[in-house]
Amino acid sequence: MSSSKSREQAEREKQIRDADELLFSGPQKLGVGKGLFLGRFVADWVMPYPQIPQVEQAELDTSLERLRKFLDEHLDAAAIDRQADIPREVIDGLARLGVFAMTAPLDVGGRNFSQRAYCKVMEEIGSRCASTAIFVNVQSSVGMRALVLFGTPEQKRRWLPALVSGEKLAAFALTEPEAGSDAANVQTTARPSADGSHYILNGEKRYITSGAIAQVLTVMARTPVPGKEETAITAFIVTPDMPGFTVVEPRMEKLGVRGTATARLAFRDMPVPKENILGTPGKGLKVALTVLDFGRVTFGASCTGAAKTCLRLAVQHATGRRQFGRTLGEFELTKKKIARMAAGAYAMEAMTNVTASLIDRGFEDYMLETAMLKVFSTEALWMLVSEAFQVHGGAAYFTDKPLERMLRDARINQIGEGANEVLTSFLALVGMRGPGQQFQQLQEALRHPWGEWRRAWVLGLDRLGAAVRSPEVPVRSESLRAHADRLGDHIRRFNIEVNRALIRHREEILDRQYVQERIARAAMELFASACVLSRWDSELQAAGSGGDPGDARFGAAELFLRGSFRRMRRSLAEMHDNDDDAVTAIANRVLRHGGELR
Ligand SMILES: Cc1cc2nc3c(=O)[nH]c(=O)nc-3n(C[C@H](O)[C@H](O)[C@H](O)COP(=O)(O)OP(=O)(O)OC[C@H]3O[C@@H](n4cnc5c(N)ncnc54)[C@H](O)[C@@H]3O)c2cc1C
Repeated sequence: MSSSKSREQAEREKQIRDADELLFSGPQKLGVGKGLFLGRFVADWVMPYPQIPQVEQAELDTSLERLRKFLDEHLDAAAIDRQADIPREVIDGLARLGVFAMTAPLDVGGRNFSQRAYCKVMEEIGSRCASTAIFVNVQSSVGMRALVLFGTPEQKRRWLPALVSGEKLAAFALTEPEAGSDAANVQTTARPSADGSHYILNGEKRYITSGAIAQVLTVMARTPVPGKEETAITAFIVTPDMPGFTVVEPRMEKLGVRGTATARLAFRDMPVPKENILGTPGKGLKVALTVLDFGRVTFGASCTGAAKTCLRLAVQHATGRRQFGRTLGEFELTKKKIARMAAGAYAMEAMTNVTASLIDRGFEDYMLETAMLKVFSTEALWMLVSEAFQVHGGAAYFTDKPLERMLRDARINQIGEGANEVLTSFLALVGMRGPGQQFQQLQEALRHPWGEWRRAWVLGLDRLGAAVRSPEVPVRSESLRAHADRLGDHIRRFNIEVNRALIRHREEILDRQYVQERIARAAMELFASACVLSRWDSELQAAGSGGDPGDARFGAAELFLRGSFRRMRRSLAEMHDNDDDAVTAIANRVLRHGGELR
């Protein structure tokens, strides 16, 4: 084996070890995402459609009413974008309304709202201003969350009350020049002092939201592993008054979400007390990924809010603007856009609500679902912004309308908190791990058929069962039975393709990103369809027999399901009919020739 091949192999083995440690900490209940990969539909996590309990709903309604009034009066998204700053009075106002306290525990001044209720608040903010939504997300879902989940009682007492009240701002600093998507490649070092009382941090961070205005930062740095040559990532609580904390650039000039203050930071021999270690030393990546998981759910919510705004703006324009003697909305090609946008927004909301409910119900292993939500909702929003833009024609291009800002703002979503390509690969591989293990066990058992016949029999039946039997998708509305059966059948077909891919590629699947992408896309469509069906079912039940069959929500749900099943079939068909070899060949050639077509 050549040395570069063996280095690659060693790197891959290390990545697998890291992922194992991060993702598979112990036996977990089977979630809806992982279930799909095994050909099962774990209905309990999706159906019936999760509702906010009445008592909380009343409190949420009051909070939303006050929030809307405040935002109507004080939030000027265009000015925030123009001035590249969120005014302090907006931050203080949100703090007074208890927005930062929403999901924090009561004993530190929090309001202990569910994720579902919090998502409704984020949807409202996201519908108006992406900068403010990202700022709040960093404060509450990411910055503060690390302390809520991993802080010691003393750390929580010390840091959380001021963050919850908004007196202090939070930031989360993982990204560095050499550690973007490859989060495990953090180069910032934290060396223990001789007396062991503190750590000395050296390194750089970039693209850190609120990095230069925050008073409490969660910072990832590399610490030695006792008794070994290796280092591992540890999370630290850092404050800007620590000697050596340097703001290299407080507000990097940027395309969108311009109201957020995105910083470059450096730490130069910066002492951090050992009491400021967050979570277990060496387990900082687990802190980072868990916290980002939370962030991704609120991403779904704020994208949903922005999507609804796009739809509203597109409809306003389509009904008001006349060309060729008709309103734009009378043309079929505008109708097509409006209907597609409605279906997308409906699905985004359903998927956000179901995913948030997984956290509320105490399900621990929701990485797959949050990754699906993040990729799905950020891509759906990009489509919605683009369609709304097109409906507006030239009018969208000018700064007196919000769409040019919304277009610029939406672009970060596919990159931030895990680039969509990385998450797509991740979710395919995490999902395939279950059936992959079953195959390995089956192979193992078949090697000793006399000793292990019972296990081989059970595993074989399980695989065979998943291949021939569609799982039951329980709906309460009889009118949805055909859709539910179709979903079950698609889950079965998906499982067959997953198994085929595993048999065909074996461990090589780790490098087959074209295959991973198709599997991931199909899985996302299945999850989205399940959420849509669940929501539609609950709305039909609530409407009772007096429900209007022409209700646009039901139409949007049906349109989404039709399109989603079609996209899923296409993804699976492309497993067998594709241009993968040609794609690789041309890309390699163009890469080799510096972008020249020769
Ligand atoms: C406005 C803004 C705010 C941010 N806020 C924060 C913050 O508060 N805290 C923080 O820590 N970070 C923050 N980030 C950083 C953000 O999380 C990173 O930009 C993101 O993780 C991607 O890393 P990167 O930019 O280095 O891109 P790279 O890692 O260089 O990736 C570039 C592209 O390569 C592709 N790619 C990368 N790896 C793979 C792969 N394995 N397979 C296939 N394709 C791949 C993807 O298409 C990706 O978009 C922020 C970034 C921006 C722009």
